[in-house]
Amino acid sequence: MSTDNTYGFTTTILHNDRQKEIEHGSPHKPIHTSVTFGYHNARELADVFQGKANGFRYGRQGNPTVSALEDKITKMEDGVASLCFATGMAAIGAVFQGLLRRGDQIVSSRFLFGNTNSLWQTCAEQGIAVALVDATDVAQVEAAITPDTRMVFVETIANPRTQIADLARIGELCQQRGILYVVDNTMTSPYLFRPKKVGAGLVINSLTKAIAGHGNVLGGAITDTGLFNWASYPHIAANFRKQAPAQQGMSQLRAKALRDFGASLSPDAAHQIAVGAETLALRMERESANALALAQMLEADPRVARVHYPGLASHPQHALATDLFRSYGALFSFELQPEIDCFDFLNHLKLAINATHLGDTRTLVIPVAHTIFFEMGAERRAEMQIADSLIRVSVGIEDTQDLLSDFAQGLSNY
Ligand SMILES: *Cc1c(COP(=O)(O)O)cnc(C)c1O
Repeated sequence: MSTDNTYGFTTTILHNDRQKEIEHGSPHKPIHTSVTFGYHNARELADVFQGKANGFRYGRQGNPTVSALEDKITKMEDGVASLCFATGMAAIGAVFQGLLRRGDQIVSSRFLFGNTNSLWQTCAEQGIAVALVDATDVAQVEAAITPDTRMVFVETIANPRTQIADLARIGELCQQRGILYVVDNTMTSPYLFRPKKVGAGLVINSLTKAIAGHGNVLGGAITDTGLFNWASYPHIAANFRKQAPAQQGMSQLRAKALRDFGASLSPDAAHQIAVGAETLALRMERESANALALAQMLEADPRVARVHYPGLASHPQHALATDLFRSYGALFSFELQPEIDCFDFLNHLKLAINATHLGDTRTLVIPVAHTIFFEMGAERRAEMQIADSLIRVSVGIEDTQDLLSDFAQGLSNY
């Protein structure tokens, strides 16, 4: 099959492995379980170690099955290279391990995935200042920038309140100041949005969520979009400076974060994620349509106090979402009227599962203040606009009418 970059999103993913050598005609990249890779002679081995020839050395820093998935993610994000990790958090941790030093400062969003928020606290304990601002307002991001600012890190749609960062303006700001712009694209996935479009230098994806999509495997990735000038980044170590500027960032991340900390993705997991990714577009279409139908039904119901979903005209960044994203995503949150107990309501649902996680094929519900955002405390929850009664819904691919009926019968008890 010839390379044709006019193919659509799903065609490209389905046929990407065939752009390279097809092993035994297998349409799936085989699962290579070998930890080490042998060469015909010692010189070839030495050349691989010295970077004079391409090849795999040891499973922790690279594997053919994982590499095939990395190629696919690069295509999905329209980037130049990707690195996979054991989890999404390992990918975010790699940014910290591979690129930041004591005395640096980062600017990030106040509305952030809970574990990323916790990781930034660890950064702060280790001498990296973290400014958390309302990233829906570019002026706040700009005001937080100091001469020590090494990166701005935001998410596309925040979980669980669905605030949307002012992605394009922050991108322009980072470009003007020469600051690395890192966007966690997990909530939108590369099917709904490519952060490269707004100037991101690095893109993070938790592969566990929409990309793998079935709640049966963990993984994470960093993609270099090729937009950031690594020659200008102060913390590239001397041995990586010898490479072409375009490769310096990912080479350092591969060595200092993936190799040295070792949170590598297993080849079995890479295979599972690659299979899941084939239907990313189909699932996202269905999940977004289901989420919109359910959010609209709830918003119109007098027993519901408010619904937070970018697809609703009442959402503060509805116009921005319409402009930037292909559709509005699979996640929304809502609050019932104060006299209805959110635990009692959740107990009435028959289809939706009481569980954490998002981007699954099955609809999941969770009272966030009492679970995933419990540890951070009431004050921080208030800053993130998370009410005690807030229910998060990660919408699956169930038949729309079944989902609407489940929530309607849940509400009918009040
Ligand atoms: C889940 C999630 C992560 C972490 O991913 P894991 O694969 O669970 O480690 C990071 N960012 C966002 C926005 C997420 O939703």
